Amino acid sequence: MNKIVEFYAPGKIIFGPGGLSQVGVEAKKLGSIALITLGSSAMRKSGTLDRLIHLLIENNLKYVIYENIPSDPTVETVDSGTSVARKGGCNLVIALGGGSVMDTGKAISAMVTNEGSVADYQEIEGKGRKLNIKPIPFIAIPTTSGTGSEATRNAVITNTKLGLKKSIRDLCLIPEVALVDPELTLSLPPGITATCGGDALTQCIESYLGKKSQEITDALALHAIGLIGKSLVKAVKDGKNLEARENMAMAALLSGLCLSNSGLGAAHALSHPLGVYYKIPHGLSCAVLLPYVMEYNLPIVTKKLVKIAQSLGEDISLLSETEAAQKAVEKTKEILSQAEIKENLLEWGIKEKDFSQLIKDAKGGSLNNNPRNTSDEDLIELLCKITGLY
Ligand SMILES: [Zn+2]
Repeated sequence: MNKIVEFYAPGKIIFGPGGLSQVGVEAKKLGSIALITLGSSAMRKSGTLDRLIHLLIENNLKYVIYENIPSDPTVETVDSGTSVARKGGCNLVIALGGGSVMDTGKAISAMVTNEGSVADYQEIEGKGRKLNIKPIPFIAIPTTSGTGSEATRNAVITNTKLGLKKSIRDLCLIPEVALVDPELTLSLPPGITATCGGDALTQCIESYLGKKSQEITDALALHAIGLIGKSLVKAVKDGKNLEARENMAMAALLSGLCLSNSGLGAAHALSHPLGVYYKIPHGLSCAVLLPYVMEYNLPIVTKKLVKIAQSLGEDISLLSETEAAQKAVEKTKEILSQAEIKENLLEWGIKEKDFSQLIKDAKGGSLNNNPRNTSDEDLIELLCKITGLY
């Protein structure tokens, strides 16, 4: 390997069933007044929020709650959360939720110390401002196994004024602590389990195949792909299967480490505009695009696809290299279909007249990292495949 690589991870990763019990002790090391970011009422109803608060109080911390964060957080979501944190004198952010809640918490932790609106810092045509001041500490506690935001350096925020979904990105955004407790995912409904798992799988495969892939994340990605192959369908069919939940939580965490250090690809590039224009959940569009993108990339990354097939437990001993690579695509399709993810997005009514705008908005870092370069015609063909119209 003839290149210099770098690898960044959260300051501390705590992983395991019951891990939530550590939050008070960890929080105490980092601050005294926590802003807790939350989504809808699931964490309140399950009693998890009460447990979190109890653990904070036990360690003499105060807290302020910022809740009802929508599934696609906007610039306004972050800016108003930042005001709440500043007013409450918060010197620590704890996110308890899925990717949107973690991304919001992460962005708020930076905006508390940096001036202006989060919109000023978004990666829009490379114009985003740099975060000059260190954010307040951030603890990420994922409650879905999907985005891997607990391990990444970016937060995806929707800019409704510009009609774009773009990241703020900086090494200082990597959480101080990623606290991953698989027990928190036991009550996740099958549909969300499937799409979040599909997102994690897409993240692992895209970072593994991508131009910026490197040995450290390659090892993590292949291991995570194996875990997902073994456990996604089990977690969807039987949510209370703790071993499957543990495997999915680990895979999601690893997928975050992979994407943050080695980037993504065409499935993620197209998923962002599909989320903005059609409100298609991120994990769903990624999962539907994934096999088509793998197939598109096959001629360039044949050997790597063979490794993916092996990680997914396929016997490739009697196959040619191309056949074995094709097996990775087929097995991925099979896993996603057993997880009840449809093979196209027909019901979302994607229109051909929107293709040129979708393609324009898909351009950027993820697309540039795709192993096979894409022309507009190639992207149109991918979109045709997922619409289910052709
Ligand atoms: Zn993703």
